[in-house]
Amino acid sequence: MRFFSVNSPLLKQFDRWATPVLAVVAVAVFVGETVWPLRRRTRPRTERWPRNVGVSVPSLVGLRLGLLPAMVGLTQVAARRRWGLNRLGWPEPVRLLSELLILDYVAYSWHRLLHAPLLWRLHRVHHTDLDMDLSTGWRFHVGEMLASIPYRGGVPMLLGVRPGVLLAYEAVFEACTAFHHSNTRLPVVVERPLAAWMITPRAHGIHHSVVHRETQSNFGVVLSLWDRLHRTLRLNVPQQQVEIGMPAYPDAAAQTVRHLLVMPIEPLQPWTRFDGTVPDRPWPTTPLDELAG
Ligand SMILES: [Zn+2]
Repeated sequence: MRFFSVNSPLLKQFDRWATPVLAVVAVAVFVGETVWPLRRRTRPRTERWPRNVGVSVPSLVGLRLGLLPAMVGLTQVAARRRWGLNRLGWPEPVRLLSELLILDYVAYSWHRLLHAPLLWRLHRVHHTDLDMDLSTGWRFHVGEMLASIPYRGGVPMLLGVRPGVLLAYEAVFEACTAFHHSNTRLPVVVERPLAAWMITPRAHGIHHSVVHRETQSNFGVVLSLWDRLHRTLRLNVPQQQVEIGMPAYPDAAAQTVRHLLVMPIEPLQPWTRFDGTVPDRPWPTTPLDELAG
């Protein structure tokens, strides 16, 4: 068996079932955010979508031809050498649950690393979007995709996660990424209980806020459990007060595909507006918060 194969049977199977499932999720999210918008748009979709799609094409190639085959190859090595969970002989339900929790914690902790200075160079391409919707969930720099290989492939390998489980989780990861980036207004009575255990559109909207301490919260991808455990969960910000983006990048005209692709080599900017002010809001917020019931 070759270590790195973009055409392994597992990946071909993943293409066959995950692609149509994720396409249906994307259509549902698109309809939801078009019919029931959550935040007011500041820029037209016709301006942002071509740019976000332009950035997403190399990223998608990096995902399918780099990250996914690498993660599958690494976890196959662990299976053959009986590393981690492969050695323990746990009952299937316990093992499966452990693997899914490991993968979601890896996603949470990787996202926290992306907010550290070195990787922030890559991840800020995602955070400079001036509105947040389905297309923001595609706007990742290809470098971020490839840089994640050692961590998102290496940790599951060392802990013995099975490649099939990893790919199944990957589909859930992608579906949840589309869901929590969506600009869909769910009824608060639905979203509030949902936000107690998973990352929702309002919760992730807070993560894309121009207020720095709000960006440093809600890092989870599927479960909000990890944010709760690490005290990074923040649900008490009313959505209409959230301004999406980064204070140093307010200029929509400057956000061309070319600029977004070279952004990682630009110097890091201080978290201030051009006039030197730091975006903030009175704290704590009103008791009329939407999600922190
Ligand atoms: Zn982030």
